Amino acid sequence: MPSPRVVVIGSGIVGLSTAWELSHRGVEVQVIDPEPVHDQASCGNAGMLSIGHVPLTRPGVSWRGLRWMLSRTSPLYIRPTIDREIWSWLWHFHQHCNEPWFERTMTSLAQQGWASMACIDRFMEETACDCLFKKVGWMAVCRTSAMLHEQAEEAALAQRHGYDCAMISGAELRALAPCYRSAVVGAVHWRDSAICDPRAYMKGLERSCRARGVMIGPRVRVTRILRSKEGRVEGVECADGSRVKATHVVLAAGVWSKPLLEDVGVRCPLVGARGYNIRLQGMHALPVASAVLCETSIAATPTGSDLRLAGTLEIGPLGKPWIRSRLEQLRKGADAYIDGGLRDAATVEEWAGYRPCLPDGMPAVGTVDSVPGLLVGTGHAMLGMTLGPIAGESMARLIVGESSTIDLSLMRPDRFGRVG
Ligand SMILES: Cc1cc2nc3c(=O)[nH]c(=O)nc-3n(C[C@H](O)[C@H](O)[C@H](O)COP(=O)(O)OP(=O)(O)OC[C@H]3O[C@@H](n4cnc5c(N)ncnc54)[C@H](O)[C@@H]3O)c2cc1C
Repeated sequence: MPSPRVVVIGSGIVGLSTAWELSHRGVEVQVIDPEPVHDQASCGNAGMLSIGHVPLTRPGVSWRGLRWMLSRTSPLYIRPTIDREIWSWLWHFHQHCNEPWFERTMTSLAQQGWASMACIDRFMEETACDCLFKKVGWMAVCRTSAMLHEQAEEAALAQRHGYDCAMISGAELRALAPCYRSAVVGAVHWRDSAICDPRAYMKGLERSCRARGVMIGPRVRVTRILRSKEGRVEGVECADGSRVKATHVVLAAGVWSKPLLEDVGVRCPLVGARGYNIRLQGMHALPVASAVLCETSIAATPTGSDLRLAGTLEIGPLGKPWIRSRLEQLRKGADAYIDGGLRDAATVEEWAGYRPCLPDGMPAVGTVDSVPGLLVGTGHAMLGMTLGPIAGESMARLIVGESSTIDLSLMRPDRFGRVG
């Protein structure tokens, strides 16, 4: 067997984490992406490294989603569409919003979360990446007692999986962070998590990959995964007609992984759930940890002296124009919880990007039996920044013949069957 030469498709958190881990195992790696590294979903997200976040497929979520469907300002929005694939995705998603599946995914997410934090710790220690990384946890902040009760129940459930959660009253929260308004009744503090500036994290990861000999480039789109007559991966073909040889290909192209995977016969029911993000400057008081403002599902993360507000889950065909009211809703929604000068703060960045979502709420990570040499890492939905590092480590291990430290059985990339 020749020594591995790996092409990674996509330079988001999953692709670059895989390349970084492979470089520690002495493997030759090339990362191909048409876009610059610090311009993607992995850079514009809320920066919550949220160990303990519950999956999207929660019992009751699909019914709530149907109620929200017609509102252009609700946290979850399904664009009116006749796209059959989106309706089929929604139907499968609905079927997975049940208690037994929730328990199984929580078990897997807990294992992935702890292992990913260990990868992140290792990365921070080795690179001293200047990305405002802080282990301050995140808070589920509530304005109504009913919501606080719901959050407390969710936390009790999560504690069974080993998470460290604590209830805090509105007064205690304001003592910690005076920016919270008196209308806030309390919060659940998920203490295992961390925050970072995701763009700075990605820049640090890129810099370290290059320093370790990873080739990043050319900036071109991969159009096809090349295979031998026997079906084994041989490399990739790019939009400029060039071909790059490889013993292994890692497909980590986020929501755009679907056509490349389906071209090699593996069904991939990915949809993009668009989210929006604004960065505010000039506030005089900020939250101390990330906060999910529960009634609105807006995430507020302090990054240095700025506040990032991210939110909305907009399911629909890719590439549609932004819905401006969703961006505006971020500041309006957060204003009901946070003062600190938020109303008058300057918007210095606006951004929208896609979370790659599979209908069972689990990512796709690992090898594909029918295509030897192919590995897939996508579908991390709203947890990609958190779980991308362990997805990368797992794939690197598989490539060099080690076994993964986490159980990948719920994440098989070919679990949705074959195309056709
Ligand atoms: C508003 C918002 C807030 C979020 N907040 C958080 C959070 O706080 N914490 C968290 O853990 N997660 C969060 N997420 C989710 C997280 O950002 C994503 O799950 C994660 O970034 C996905 O990473 P990825 O590497 O799979 O894909 P991406 O980052 O999308 O990277 C895929 C890359 O593949 C490239 N590509 C596509 N097609 C091709 C091709 N044909 N050839 C070559 N390259 C290709 C793209 O250019 C891109 O660079 C959030 C997402 C959004 C939208």
